[in-house]
Amino acid sequence: MAQASLKPGVVTGADYLTLVKACKDGKYALPAVNVVSTGTINAVMEAAAKNRADVIIQLSNGGAEFYAGKGCPDSFQAKVLGAVSAARHVHLLAAQYGVCVVLHTDHANKKLIPWVEAMLDHGEAFYKETGKPLFSSHMLDLSEEDINFNLSECARLLRRMNKMGMSIEIELGVTGGEEDGVGSDDIDNAKLYTQPEDVLKAYEALLPLGHFSIAASFGNVHGVYKPGNVKLRPDILKNSQDLVQKTHKTAANPLDLVFHGGSGSEKDKIAESLNYGIFKMNIDTDTQFAFSEAVGKFVEANPKAFKYQIDPDDGTPYKKLYDPRKWLRLGEEGIVTRLNEAYADLRSAGKSLSACAGDKAKCA
Ligand SMILES: [Zn+2]
Repeated sequence: MAQASLKPGVVTGADYLTLVKACKDGKYALPAVNVVSTGTINAVMEAAAKNRADVIIQLSNGGAEFYAGKGCPDSFQAKVLGAVSAARHVHLLAAQYGVCVVLHTDHANKKLIPWVEAMLDHGEAFYKETGKPLFSSHMLDLSEEDINFNLSECARLLRRMNKMGMSIEIELGVTGGEEDGVGSDDIDNAKLYTQPEDVLKAYEALLPLGHFSIAASFGNVHGVYKPGNVKLRPDILKNSQDLVQKTHKTAANPLDLVFHGGSGSEKDKIAESLNYGIFKMNIDTDTQFAFSEAVGKFVEANPKAFKYQIDPDDGTPYKKLYDPRKWLRLGEEGIVTRLNEAYADLRSAGKSLSACAGDKAKCA
């Protein structure tokens, strides 16, 4: 099978659809990694290049706010401009890593619809300037609202986004746990599993308007919990795919599905989900821990360097150890190592569609 060859850098529009299709046809998925800073973004692109693979970089509203600075006085503007700034950083640098990068935002509930709309204002200005949208896709999570409201709002925003070749990710059913204040702990169990009838309804409402993906709930939970608390049932995904396929006489796996709460998930369940149209798996908690664990080990091994500039007993200078570049780099390397594992789990290592497949020299 001839592999499509895309220009390295941010992929949007038809190129994004090519990437999604390659994943589903090849039964592999891309990690969608939450980032909060230039360093974490660079670590994700480094991991992609090292794995000769493509990647999805995404920001939650809280991650975007942190990117702009927690001291930025206007919290709403920080959420908007932090996302815009991060996206521009990726547009500038992604091609240097020789891979294809999808730019995404994470959960936006009803209260955060104005956040998405403000990012679209900036996205439309960017589109006028460059002919490309700023983001490949935004997510709208109205799964806690009535399904009719959920779908009509998603349709309204997809119409606007489709004009720039953008895609939308929607959520049906509720992912357990909490992420940046979006999510819920006390929901009834049936809602933890997406209903195939709802998926069919979404398919029929959105297919004529543009490209969409669906975060379907199959027992997945944000964060990492004690074993036994999470009962992943990938067959739920299959039921939705089968209903749409049967009703609309499509090919197998007509839906483009997203796996939320990938951190801490059982490896065999991840592998099984790849058979049912999952092309994107969100990962945040595990890469957060990988970053912090590496920094923590270093601080533990060099406690004096984090207390004194010069050793009070023997005068040793500690500049080389407390220089933030030293320990921030270890955090970045922690992310890279954890993503090597994710690429293996998702079977996407070595599958970059970029013309230089993670090797910039090949594109020169
Ligand atoms: Zn999520």
